[in-house]
Amino acid sequence: MAHPGDIVVASAARKNPSEGCSRLFLRARESPWGLKAAMVLFHVFFAGVLFLLDRDLIRRTKEKPWYTGTYLVIFGATLAQYFFTSGSSPGYVIDAMRAANGMKAIFIESPMVLKQSISRNGNMIPSINQSQVGHDNSQMNSSSWLKFVADLYPPGLTNRNWTCPHCNVIQPPRSKHCHDCDKCVLQFDHHCLWLGTCIGKKNHCRFWWYIFEETILCIWTVILYITFLHSKDTKAWWKDFIMIVLLVPLAFCVIFLILLLLFHSYLALTNQTTYETVKRRRILYLRGIPAGVHPFSNGIFRNLRAFCCSRVSIYDMEAVPPMEELEDRARPYTCVDVVSCRCC
Ligand SMILES: [Zn+2]
Ligand SMILES: [Zn+2]
Repeated sequence: MAHPGDIVVASAARKNPSEGCSRLFLRARESPWGLKAAMVLFHVFFAGVLFLLDRDLIRRTKEKPWYTGTYLVIFGATLAQYFFTSGSSPGYVIDAMRAANGMKAIFIESPMVLKQSISRNGNMIPSINQSQVGHDNSQMNSSSWLKFVADLYPPGLTNRNWTCPHCNVIQPPRSKHCHDCDKCVLQFDHHCLWLGTCIGKKNHCRFWWYIFEETILCIWTVILYITFLHSKDTKAWWKDFIMIVLLVPLAFCVIFLILLLLFHSYLALTNQTTYETVKRRRILYLRGIPAGVHPFSNGIFRNLRAFCCSRVSIYDMEAVPPMEELEDRARPYTCVDVVSCRCC
């Protein structure tokens, strides 16, 4: 039964198309399948118009099927990567806590389960064997998790045992509660509205590949649009008009995607997240760190390896380095540093 308020809002939306569009987007966002269907339609529409209006493209496809075939392969791969990333888990703190408790039960039998890896800068990085994930442990030992997390923060920090009021778990460094997912996410980057999931430690690499493929597809589509407009074949004026109208949002998409890809490449190289970059001054354990120092960076190559192999090392917890070490990293580069590849 329709509520009288709904009728008023619906009639207002009919009068104001922009309000109607925003309501449509909000409805699609509420339904995960609605969002995915909208994304597929968006892609099919921009590519479909091209194949419907550009007769020259059809002719070229018959002459050089590999050209259009490659475009369609990238088109399919981008959509597959979208679904692959959308359905992936960002890595939740509660799972790490369960793994830690599962590990604790087995630690009695095998002290080697809890590995202690040493990073280049000498910080101990406690690591939980991933094979223990999902180990049934209904009686979680919160005190062991508390000690485990507290050791990751520098001594003397006031929020070493900060507990999320929503999930009731003690948050390790780099994690944050996502109100859309209603869970604490490990190495939280952001909640992606288009994918309908959080981007965190476990799926940040997948997200990078999705942006990469989307950028390639968008650039190629723009090239096909421009080729159509530059074509000397006689064609109806309205075809040119439709192509120009569609080319404008496509060009904005390309610019946005290239900037996004560059930004996330920078984050991967420096082992940072969007949240840490934007809210650096609001995160207690990052306050006072000299500007330009990336506290979790272990050099470009190690950062890239950790980024690409994040699924393998999903529960490797990174400790916050002591302030003395971070201040030492802020010193200017010398000739010796350049020769010894200090940044790598
Ligand atoms: Zn939480
Ligand atoms: Zn989220």
